[in-house]
Amino acid sequence: MSEKPKLAMYWAASCGGCEISVLNIGDKILIVDEVFDLAFFPCIADFKHHDVEGYEDGYIDVCLFNGAIRTSDNEEMAKLLRKKSKVLVAYGSCAYEGCIPALSNLTTKDETFNTVYYENQTIDNPNRVVPQVETQVPEGTLTLPSFYNTVKSLDQVVDVDYYLPGCPPEPEQIWAVLEIVVNALLNDGPLPPAGSIVGAGNVAVCEECPLDKNVKTITQFYRPYEIQPEPGLCLLEQGLICVGPATRSGCGALCPQVGMGCRGCYGPLEGVDDQGAKMLSAIASVVGVGDSTDDEFELEEMIDNVMDSLADPSGTFYRFSMAHSLLERVKANGNGTNGGEVK
Ligand code: SF4
Repeated sequence: MSEKPKLAMYWAASCGGCEISVLNIGDKILIVDEVFDLAFFPCIADFKHHDVEGYEDGYIDVCLFNGAIRTSDNEEMAKLLRKKSKVLVAYGSCAYEGCIPALSNLTTKDETFNTVYYENQTIDNPNRVVPQVETQVPEGTLTLPSFYNTVKSLDQVVDVDYYLPGCPPEPEQIWAVLEIVVNALLNDGPLPPAGSIVGAGNVAVCEECPLDKNVKTITQFYRPYEIQPEPGLCLLEQGLICVGPATRSGCGALCPQVGMGCRGCYGPLEGVDDQGAKMLSAIASVVGVGDSTDDEFELEEMIDNVMDSLADPSGTFYRFSMAHSLLERVKANGNGTNGGEVK
C-alpha cells in the first residue's frame, strides 16, 4: 500500500466546472499526481461509494468537495466524506455558498418540478410523471435520492475546514492552495486557521479592477446586450450591473476587463454576511436622480423608475450566495422560511 497522502474530489449539485478547473492548473497536475494517491474522484476514475465506506475514518488527507446540497444523496456523501477526511475543503461557489443551484431557493421544490417536468416547452409528459423516491417494479423497489425543498451549502450540513471560492476557482488560486497543502503534508508546513477562506483576496474586486472609476452617478441600468460599454471605464458607472463592489477579490477582475460585469462568484467581502444586501447599498450610492429640492413623491417615482430598469434584482445580487445569505431562501407558499423547514 502506497504511503502517499490521499486526495479525494467529489461532485454534488454542480455543473462539473470545478472538476475541470483542477485540470486548468496545467502541468502542475503532474506534481499533484506525484504527491498524492487518488482515494476517490468519480469524475476521472472508477471509484464506488462502498470504496469510501471501507476506508477507516480520516483515511483521506484532503477532500475537495464541490457542489451544493440539493438531494439526500448529496448530504449523505458530504457526511461520509467528512468522516473519512482529515481536511474537508468547500471547493467552488456551490459548496461554499449554494451558487446557481441555490437560486431555486427563490421558489419551492414543487414549482421547480412543475417547470422541469410539466411546463417546460421541450417536455412531452401527458401522464405527468415525476421522479419518485420509491418505485415498485416486478423485480423489487427502485429508489432515488429525495430532492430537498431548500438547497444548502456544504457547511450547513457538515463542518468545513476551508473554503475555496469561485465559479470555478481560478487556476493560480487552486495551485496556491494545493501548494500549501502539499507543504503541510510533506514538510509539516503551516496550514491556515480552520474556517479560513483560501485562494482569494481580502479586498473587493473593484480594488483589482483596472477600469477607471470617475464616481459618476447613473440614471438607468442596462443589460449587457443593450449597450456597448465604453472601453476602459467602470461598467457600473455606465449602468451595467457589476457586483465588484460587493465581491471578494482573487480572480484578477477578469470579467469586467472583457466588458462583462462581475457576477459575484468569489462571494461576499471579508466580514460581510450578505453579499446581496451589500450590493444593494453600493447601488444606492450610485443612483443619481433628482435632488433635495424635488418633491418627495416625484423623487420616489424617479428612484422607482431607475430600479425598474434593473432586471431580476434577487437573481442578480444573490446569484452565487443565496443559500449562505441571511435570507437563505425566500418564504414561498408558507414553507421553507429561514430557520423553518429546510428540507
Ligand atoms: Fe468595480 Fe466593476 Fe467598476 Fe471594475 S467595472 S471598478 S469591478 S464596479
